[in-house]
Amino acid sequence: MSTQTVENGRHRVVVIGSGFGGLFGTKHLKRADVDVTLISKTSTHLFQPLLYQVATGILSVGEIAPATRLVLRKQKNAQVLLGEVTDIDLTNNTVTSRLLDQDTVTPFDSLIVATGAQQSYFGNDRFATYAPGMKTIDDALELRGRILGAFEQAELATTQEERDRLLTFVIVGAGPTGVELAGQIAELSDRTLEGTFHNIDPRDARVVLIEGAGAVLGPMGPKLGGKAERRLEKMGVEIQLNAMVIDVDAFGVTVKDSDGTIRRIESACKVWSAGVQASPLGKLIADQSDGTEVDRAGRVVVEPDLTVKGHPNVFVVGDLMSVPNVPGQAQGAIQGATYAAKQIKAGLKGQAPQERKPFKYFNKGSMATISRFSAVCQVGKLEFGGFIAWLAWLALHLYYLVGYRSRIVTVIQWFVTFLGRSRGQMAATEQWVFARLALEAISNGDDEDAEQLAAALGASTNSRVAVDKAHTDAKAG
Ligand SMILES: Cc1cc2nc3c(=O)[nH]c(=O)nc-3n(C[C@H](O)[C@H](O)[C@H](O)COP(=O)(O)OP(=O)(O)OC[C@H]3O[C@@H](n4cnc5c(N)ncnc54)[C@H](O)[C@@H]3O)c2cc1C
Repeated sequence: MSTQTVENGRHRVVVIGSGFGGLFGTKHLKRADVDVTLISKTSTHLFQPLLYQVATGILSVGEIAPATRLVLRKQKNAQVLLGEVTDIDLTNNTVTSRLLDQDTVTPFDSLIVATGAQQSYFGNDRFATYAPGMKTIDDALELRGRILGAFEQAELATTQEERDRLLTFVIVGAGPTGVELAGQIAELSDRTLEGTFHNIDPRDARVVLIEGAGAVLGPMGPKLGGKAERRLEKMGVEIQLNAMVIDVDAFGVTVKDSDGTIRRIESACKVWSAGVQASPLGKLIADQSDGTEVDRAGRVVVEPDLTVKGHPNVFVVGDLMSVPNVPGQAQGAIQGATYAAKQIKAGLKGQAPQERKPFKYFNKGSMATISRFSAVCQVGKLEFGGFIAWLAWLALHLYYLVGYRSRIVTVIQWFVTFLGRSRGQMAATEQWVFARLALEAISNGDDEDAEQLAAALGASTNSRVAVDKAHTDAKAG
């Protein structure tokens, strides 16, 4: 166990998380007379809105996930600690983080918690084995391996039934992530991979987008949802609304329609983009406050100044906070974190917590891209789609990408992908596809499960041997 100490007596701010909330909160404190410690379990600032482009071979990880340490290099009052926060003590004002087997305790005077949300399977966590979500770099790389791997396996399939199963891609959830992913898998098979196989025609791929509600992009309203739906259908995406996925296994999904019909879709590659669950640190904090609660998704129902009851020095921002009319989007996190940093600075100048003006969210709108040259966009009452919306999407994402290098490389990759047919990031390895499952099996001690899992998922002999070896090594160690 190590303890972080600061001897200069300056106000200590601990920021947890290096996503939009964590990074923008830290940056906003650049000129403040404070010492900031940013603790995150990931070493990068991940631009989640472009994860689907990593999954579909357009961008590399580096473009959307610069190292936080490098981003903050010039911020002299900030230090970065890698580690998963395992405990927050609101009585003693400390944060405990863990890196491998080393615990570190970091004291704070002010705390900004921005640990976001993770995928939710609505109580069916076993679905995750076969239908990974889209929240992390690992998710995106695993998915890239699964998507490209399905085409490769289809090339070798010996029956039409197996070929069809391998060329069926099921995406659960028709929010922005589901829509963007469906559009990109359709373009990948129709444009990029077309003519690159001998035994299969990638254009035969079936992309199925399943949504429990009655509309695509529900929160964006019927006009934009309808536009997105029509565009996707034109691209050959099958949209199934009012359909609930009630089971997922290695070979496909089971779906229940609104009239009670239960049916199967055989599919090798499934993606889950249907729900989110807030980081468990939210409940940990709420339980120590003077009565702050968490909502059904585990988000902290914060006070008007984004703090928890009885602790005006503890701010919860971003996807982890529950504030009416503030969506779980990048802008909510950026504005919440900037607000928290401002309150900390005002406090240093003598402002009492009760003098704080409540947090006000400025809705800058939302957008989703469907395919190259087509997006939908909502700014205030203005709703539009098509090429102009796509240009707006392009400009906005470039603006928020961190770092000049990332922006330049991204523009080049987009140029190659959208104007040509190629994609620059089509590499995938067996490890990306199977490492998560192997690691989970090892940590659960499920030797046989890992072996069966690898077999059921169609792993090659090599990767089965690798799983075996990992078990043997783990046992020996
Ligand atoms: C696929 C996808 C597409 C999206 N598209 C859009 C879009 O187009 N437009 C838009 O506005 N929003 C979009 N969003 C939502 C947006 O990305 C989030 O609202 C935003 O990232 C929330 O920021 P945050 O800082 O609260 O959390 P995050 O960005 O999720 O960051 C959380 C941070 O906390 C760290 N962390 C978590 N737990 C711990 C722990 N215990 N200890 C230490 N560190 C921890 C993580 O490593 C991470 O660095 C998308 C999200 C996803 C997943």
